[in-house]
Amino acid sequence: MSKKHGNVMPFAYFGEKVVPHSEAQVSIASHSLQYGTTCFAGIRGYMRDGVPQIFRLKDHHKRLMNACKILGFDFSITYKSFESIFTDLIQANRPTGDFYLRPFVYSPDQALGPRFDGLSYELAIYLVPMQNYFDPSRGLNLGVSSWRKFPDSSIPTKAKAGGAYLNSSLATTEVKANGFDEALLLDQEGYVVEASVANIILVHHGEVIIPPVGSAVLDGITLRTAVYLLREANIPIRFERIDRSLVTTADELILTGTAAQYIFAASVDRRPIGDGTPGPICTLLRERFADLLASKHPMSQEWLTAISLDSELV
Ligand code: PMP
Repeated sequence: MSKKHGNVMPFAYFGEKVVPHSEAQVSIASHSLQYGTTCFAGIRGYMRDGVPQIFRLKDHHKRLMNACKILGFDFSITYKSFESIFTDLIQANRPTGDFYLRPFVYSPDQALGPRFDGLSYELAIYLVPMQNYFDPSRGLNLGVSSWRKFPDSSIPTKAKAGGAYLNSSLATTEVKANGFDEALLLDQEGYVVEASVANIILVHHGEVIIPPVGSAVLDGITLRTAVYLLREANIPIRFERIDRSLVTTADELILTGTAAQYIFAASVDRRPIGDGTPGPICTLLRERFADLLASKHPMSQEWLTAISLDSELV
């Protein structure tokens, strides 16, 4: 971690134990560093009444294990062990505010040649304090990137594979250089498919439209949460590919993601979306999500894993 971005929390999980972050080191010749041979998860931890709550840890574990399966990484860990590692790590770090957890599976092997078979894989995790990734008080000014989202036939889109994020990096770098906050990506056929690290929900003529999971999108856990919350509110959803012109005339465009949570677009390619304030669907999602995190929702218990900071009680 460079000094410029050095706000990582003091302890990491590395080499099958909790160690000071400075001891979690890999060789410059490691396969993962050379070829992007990793798959990862991004998870939020919320401090509520002094107790860290991890959001949908089971679902993140499942997606990470599915990623290993899709890519052919010879690695697996049970949910029970996964949860117990997070407990140890959070107890070691004792967060005082909301945070972000980054587990990833990587290959430390010093092996030349791109491949996934015949390598050894390990789990590592680090934590970063995180309040808001985007400022929720204003909408994002999005720009459509000239870099297209890769199709599943080139790189598995459901795997959250480290190397695949070259695509997101190219897109955000391009649009930020052009003065935008975030990138919208088109798929190979020109449909609007995703933001660089978030799924999208479009509201058009009052109807909610979401690109189907079978398109080039990541199967987003925040999006699945939104689908649950919308269905619970009896709001119908159409799962359809989204034309670029629909975005221009949308009532609302909402980005969903672990980092983004539910953030609305104020404009796309400098054309305003809505009136620059959160629309009714974004507001509903934010309110119900806040209830979820405050343990005031029927799914709170299922989706929040409370970690006791008192290690003697665990
Ligand atoms: N798409 C991409 C490409 C992402 O990186 C993310 C962030 N994980 C998402 C969508 C949103 O997924 P989730 O809600 O599971 O964080």
